[in-house]
Formats: sequence, C-alpha cells, structure tokens
Amino acid sequence: MPKPPADTRPPDDAGGQAARPIASPLADRLVALIRAYGPITVADYMSDALFHPNDGYYTSQSPIGARGDFTTAPEVSQIFGELIGLWLVQSWMEIGEPDYFTLVELGPGRGVMMQDILRAAAVRPKFLKAARVQLVETSGRLRHEQQKRLKGAPASIEWKDSFNETADGPILIVANELFDCLPIRQFVMTERGWRERMVNVADDSEQLIFTTAFAPPLDLDDAPAAAAPGEVYEISEAGDALIEDISARLARNKGRALIIDYGHVGEGLGDTLQAIRGHGRWRPLDAPGHADITAHVNFRRLVRRAFDAGAAAYGPVSQSALLDRLGLALRVERLCAGKSQPEIDEIHAGAFRIAAASEMGELFRAIAVSSPELAAPVGFDVP
Ligand code: SAH
Repeated sequence: MPKPPADTRPPDDAGGQAARPIASPLADRLVALIRAYGPITVADYMSDALFHPNDGYYTSQSPIGARGDFTTAPEVSQIFGELIGLWLVQSWMEIGEPDYFTLVELGPGRGVMMQDILRAAAVRPKFLKAARVQLVETSGRLRHEQQKRLKGAPASIEWKDSFNETADGPILIVANELFDCLPIRQFVMTERGWRERMVNVADDSEQLIFTTAFAPPLDLDDAPAAAAPGEVYEISEAGDALIEDISARLARNKGRALIIDYGHVGEGLGDTLQAIRGHGRWRPLDAPGHADITAHVNFRRLVRRAFDAGAAAYGPVSQSALLDRLGLALRVERLCAGKSQPEIDEIHAGAFRIAAASEMGELFRAIAVSSPELAAPVGFDVP
C-alpha cells in the first residue's frame, strides 16, 4: 500500500485522530535530553527515532510488509523490480557492457527488489556475470533478512555501511523509498523570515511538541522567496550529501542511478513530515522508535545538486509513466500467460496498485542521475 499522502494539518494539531503517545525508553531519553540541553532539530529527532543504535525504528522493528507498518512497490508486485532490472540491463549495455561493474542498491528493505532485478536480468547472462552487487544497508535486522532472501542469488553480493564504501569503476545504482527516510530540518516562515522548527517538551507533561527557534533565520538558498507566514520549507542535509556523493561518482565513473520515491512536484513548500504505524497515520512526535517517519523528497533540489556535482540528471517522471515506458503492459501479459484466473487477477491488482494514478502511480516519482556523456536513459527520453 502506498504511504498515505502528507496531511495538511500541522503535525502538532492532528485533529485528535492520532492515538496517544507511546511510552518507550527512547521517548524518555529524548525528553530527558531536551529538558537538560534544550530543544533539538527535527533532523536530530528523526535520526534518533529512526536510527538510534538500540531503539531506533529501523534498528529495532520489522517495518515492511503486510505484518509490518507499511508496504512498498516491490513488495506489492514483482513486476516493479523486474522492470527496473530491465532498465539496469539496458543501462549496462549503454555503458559498453563492461566485464565488471558494481550494482548498488541503497536501502534494500527485505531484499525483494534485488531478487526481482536479478531474476529479470537473467535475459543477459553476461550482465549477471559482470555484476558485483553491493547492498548499502544501515539496519542489522534488515541486512539479516536480505541475507536470508538473497542466499543462492545468481550474482555475488556484499553488504556495505555507506555509499562511499562501494567499489569504484563502472556503476549502476538503484534506490526505492530511501531518500524519504533521510532526516529533514524544517523551517517556518515568520514575520521576521525563516525560523527553524524544533522539538521541545511540554511544560506540564512529558509530551514532545514542536516549537520555533529564536535563532536568527538561516540562509536558505533554495527556499521560494514568496512563502507566506506559516509556510514550511524542508531540507535534508543527509539527502543533499548522498545525491552529491552519487553524482560525483557518476561524473568520475561511467554509470547511472535510478531514484524512486514520493515527493514534491513544485517549489517544495509544505509540512510533509509524517509517521506511519500499523498501516495508519500517527503524529510524528508520538511514537519515536515505533513508527516510520518520512518526508516528501524535494526532487528539484536533488536534480540541481546532481548537476552542480558534475552529473546529468533527468526527471522527475511519475512512477506510472516510467513503468509504462519500461513495458508494464507487456510484462503483465507475459506473466499472466498460462496462469489461473485468481493468479491473473492478483497480477493485475498488483500492477494497478504500483502504476495507477489513483494508487502509487502519481504520488511516486523517479529521477535518473547519469554520467554526463551518456544519452538520456530509457523512461526519461520522452519529452
Ligand atoms: N527499498 C526498500 C525499503 C524501503 S525502507 C523497499 O522499497 O521495499 C528504507 C530502507 O532504507 C530500509 O532498508 C532502511 O533500513 C534503509 N536505510 C535507511 N537509511 C539508510 C541509509 N542512510 N543508508 C542505507 N540504508 C538506509
């Protein structure tokens, strides 16, 4: 299921919809820390809530799948990963079919997409022979799931802690729903310009609440000049750093990256911080370590940073358009051949969920980052 779109209500006023805050050692620690040292940034809150070494959400929970808190496109339909596999094979051909190349997936979740990629890539055995798969995963739990699922995979697989540890040389990179969980800072437009939104503790309870910093406005070079008071602008320093590292690598080494996520189309204004637990919405400050916390990706910003770092960048295009151009209809037809009616219905339902505009098709978008000398990649070559 796609994550529900961001609510327009301010997160500290969720209309009484959300459940009560969850007490946890991480929530206690955050309260004590803020009481002792003062409010923390939204990015620091998100970092601890998601990636704290003991109690972070990705460290301590099983987030993905029907029994987890949310589902992603590769978990919904095998066609998603298979079409991306064909995009990768095509890209490998366009970089000259190197005998060795690094195939990187950032944030592989349960390893489902890589499994589907490698199955589809079997159409070119030389691709599988040439591929040195490197999975970048910060969560030990998910790494363990990936290792179980990819045992016996038709290519060599290694795990890395960060993108910068992946091998130099020709490289193809994919990331689905990774950038949305990288910590963001939020800025609110006030009468006196942008002010940072911070996480504080209520005076009369242990509840975490949002406040606005008194600190002077930061220089937000990308923020739209015409923001009205109360509007929110978000930046992800971790996202900026990652796209810059990817782009610098692609400027130096031949290759491409395909990045899929949900995000902003226009200027990138809006409070998009959201928490999901048990497939439902929670207030972002109510369940640190027990809910997935995400924010919309600012594709315009990523594309600009990619160019600034010396790469070429394409998109964003909607997931729906991308999958169509990669041959979704044909893939569905092939997969249905010889199947029973219930199986056919399931294949169609999966394809509908990942591609229909009313489902994940328009909310999710893709950008491609590329070595500058290469032509536009398939899926991004249509005006
Ligand atoms: N791509 C998967 C999972 C998405 S959830 C899918 O589509 O199903 C986000 C994934 O990114 C998780 O595997 C999480 O542990 C991982 N992750 C989060 N931050 C990361 C980081 N900085 N580097 C690498 N992986 C990260």
